[in-house]
Amino acid sequence: MKLEVLTIGTELLLGHTVDTNAAELGRAFAAAGAEITRRTTVPDRPEAIRVAVAEALERTGFVITTGGLGPTSDDMTKTVVAELLGKRLVLDAPLLASIKARFDRMNRVMPAINRTQAEIPEGATILANPRGTAPGLWVQDGRGRVVVLLPGVPREMRGLLVEEVLPRLLERQGGSHAVVRSRTVRTTGVSESAVAERVGSIEPDIAPLTLAYLPSVDGVDLRITAWGLPPAEADARLAAAAERLRAAAGEHGYGTDDADLAAVVLDALRRGRHRLGIAESCTGGLVAERITNVPGASDTFIGGVVAYADVIKTAALKVPLEILEAHGAVSEQTVRAMAEGAQRLFSADAGLAVTGIAGPGGGTPDKPVGTVWLAARVHTTTRAVKRVFPGDRREIRARAAQAALDLLRRLLAES
Ligand code: AMP
Ligand code: MG
Repeated sequence: MKLEVLTIGTELLLGHTVDTNAAELGRAFAAAGAEITRRTTVPDRPEAIRVAVAEALERTGFVITTGGLGPTSDDMTKTVVAELLGKRLVLDAPLLASIKARFDRMNRVMPAINRTQAEIPEGATILANPRGTAPGLWVQDGRGRVVVLLPGVPREMRGLLVEEVLPRLLERQGGSHAVVRSRTVRTTGVSESAVAERVGSIEPDIAPLTLAYLPSVDGVDLRITAWGLPPAEADARLAAAAERLRAAAGEHGYGTDDADLAAVVLDALRRGRHRLGIAESCTGGLVAERITNVPGASDTFIGGVVAYADVIKTAALKVPLEILEAHGAVSEQTVRAMAEGAQRLFSADAGLAVTGIAGPGGGTPDKPVGTVWLAARVHTTTRAVKRVFPGDRREIRARAAQAALDLLRRLLAES
């Protein structure tokens, strides 16, 4: 089945808002085996919306729109679509009551303009939206052509997509359908070309699945995709291919799909009954943030210090002043002493430390911007590495946090 996506909002064209809805709809429909043949964005102007919906309907007979369903004057999608399909807008009393009830629950008086949100094109199906006031609408014309109207707020759009739209779509396809489905093997601490050297030879073997390399600050994700296969066959082929990729990626692979390196490290610490203390300079708490983002981290993570000034490195972490003076704050000797200091300060079995130059200032020919020293320590074994990361300040800090977690992961895997 073919369909088109139309995202509506002047802010999307001005670049003030990134069109995440279109990307999400793309992923969801691919997974459901529906093919998006075109994606269009128009401003909040009735004529632009009318023409875009009309043309899309001519081409595919099935259009999904997001945006322009709010109660304010710049939201006009519903009115335009009703007019285009020759339908009157009628007040839906139960819908009005549910919108009123929502305001009551929030202990607020419903503004009069919200009444318009209870008006629907005659005969349209209301897609209940428990996350907001604007419901989604499934509108069909006399020729069986469909326009589905979804709100612009991504969280509401996503809820309606999963709970209301996809089930109806699968029903229309009558159960049997081909899907476009992907899986990901996540690697880190290795360049894109180096990982390609390891896994590239597998590519012919996993055909018709395709392989893509997706580098980011987290590392290189290897995405394999099955195109247009029955769901069971797609899953089986993807599982087998993911296993082969994982094996070929070796020690650089840390998980599949949504795997988070911080969660992987916490699991490894738990298996060894290690508890962790952290000392961070240039990452300013990013590593601790990554760790504490994982539910249940409290059984393993004790604490961290942001040792930004040298005086904190010496006072809290007991980094010897002579080391700082002789080698500088960004050095192997300092980062080793920091990891040991964190381990001692928190009475932990494992310590992790980061110190570096995030830029844009502060670089020298010896230690350019992006130079980061990392150290991981488990019991009495310390491993330290120097990396020189590319990118701006935000990127260098994010890469440093990921590399710190990866260093500890690798050390734990060996011990
Ligand atoms: P609307 O439903 O048009 O009133 O949009 C409500 C909010 O959702 C806007 O303020 C935008 O921030 C956001 N939004 C609208 N369309 C999109 C989109 N395609 N992708 C991401 N966010 C969006
Ligand atoms: Mg809008």
